[in-house]
Amino acid sequence: MANDSGRILVVSDSPDYYSTKDLRILYPGLVDEHDLNKAPISPQILTPYERVWTLLRRAENVRLLDYSVIREHARGRGARVVSHLFEYGDGSGLEFRFRNAGPRRHKLHVVSESDPITRGFAVGDEVYWYRNSSDIDEAPVGHYAYREVICEDDPAAGRKVLARSTMTDGAMWIEERFESGGLILAYDLFSPLDLALTQGDPWILHRGTFSKYIPAGNVFGGTVRYGRYENRKLSPEEVLGRIGALADLPGRAAQVEIREEGLSSEGTPVLSVRFGNESGPRFQLFSAKHGMEWENVYGMLITLEELLKGDVIDLERFCVVAVPLLNPFGYRNGCRHNANGVDLNRQLRRDWDRFRGWSDEVLEPWTFDFKGRGRASEPESQIEARLGEEPNKLCVIDAHEMAGAPILGGAGPNQEVLRGLSEQVVANLKNRYLIRYLTDATPRQLTLECYPGKCGADDPGTAPCYAIWYENVGQLPDVHATVMQTDLAAEINLTAMRSIAESL
Ligand SMILES: [Zn+2]
Repeated sequence: MANDSGRILVVSDSPDYYSTKDLRILYPGLVDEHDLNKAPISPQILTPYERVWTLLRRAENVRLLDYSVIREHARGRGARVVSHLFEYGDGSGLEFRFRNAGPRRHKLHVVSESDPITRGFAVGDEVYWYRNSSDIDEAPVGHYAYREVICEDDPAAGRKVLARSTMTDGAMWIEERFESGGLILAYDLFSPLDLALTQGDPWILHRGTFSKYIPAGNVFGGTVRYGRYENRKLSPEEVLGRIGALADLPGRAAQVEIREEGLSSEGTPVLSVRFGNESGPRFQLFSAKHGMEWENVYGMLITLEELLKGDVIDLERFCVVAVPLLNPFGYRNGCRHNANGVDLNRQLRRDWDRFRGWSDEVLEPWTFDFKGRGRASEPESQIEARLGEEPNKLCVIDAHEMAGAPILGGAGPNQEVLRGLSEQVVANLKNRYLIRYLTDATPRQLTLECYPGKCGADDPGTAPCYAIWYENVGQLPDVHATVMQTDLAAEINLTAMRSIAESL
């Protein structure tokens, strides 16, 4: 076993390349670099490092790297290595190819799951994985490329292909596992990359870049805990199907009731998921009250699955009531409002009579925060209000989204509990995801700004109980960031519930 100092050695022909900078942000103070232009790599240099990242940018520099030294470090010393496909292919006697996908945004598909590398992904998932060319990538004439290695599984060598190109079936995520516990993960470390928009950072609006460091982060430790990739945005009907399926979840620690709470403003059923001790302290969870904040629906479903394993909160003591899709119309149409143009998050305000919104536009349907014709006039809000009157309410969690950095706020009877759970979520998120928002010049770690003890504008006004609200990063045009988004939502929901339950 190599020395597990926690440090990462980057072995590269291009010191301080953007990916090295990214790793330094993701693992602050833990990244060292070895410049192959100055010296070859040796077992002695590798010895202190249990985690190694290799990236050769220039084909002619392949002579600078003896890959057998890298492989031996993983095989003989149990190290975890992440390599670019190019030097991995060269060092394995396998053909490496640079491919042109033409106008198609290339995707890989996951063909085999391997824990922890593929955590967050499942067999059959299709994931954007391409680079573009900055000079000719003008819509609609895309020019996309990708890299692959031609290989099959080789059990004798411990080699297994985990993902392949959807176009050519070439290998794109490859693992080698050794008896020592060491492993090599080889994939295209340049992609996903959009040269026109970003140096390759996980940029908020770029398809695919969010998945870039996930396999490596899983190898180095800790990136995906609960998150799960989704290939596409489900229809509301499919979401209702998934909600219904929770009643038959294999291995569930409690009986699950799926209850139709009424019809939404567009006529779609609004379903609640109920389990636990019906007369015990009650957690209520809502997502997609604002319909375009749709990714939280997925995070809520994962949250419920985790809760049903039975070890987050005691289901013989506590009760859970969740409405994963409160606003089917908004979800379906990608808008904030319900079918009557009402902002459902303004409907139940205690100050509804006086509320004027962000501007006087609050008086017209479809304007930003139109509060409705009357307090609780909308069917979705009537459902929320009725649930709010159920007994023994301990905590309400309301999941929202915005395009910027996530925030968490809350109010409740014990400020220390709120502060503690906020700190716990922030600690749990450390060194896991990299993200660059619209206004950022460089990426940063995914974290949360927390406002414990501060009532949000949407405070439902339930003083004796906890009211937690958060803004996940979301409303993205497709599903490319779902692993991160669902991980964040589940992390907040589960940490908050566990902390509050333990405080009683
Ligand atoms: Zn919202």
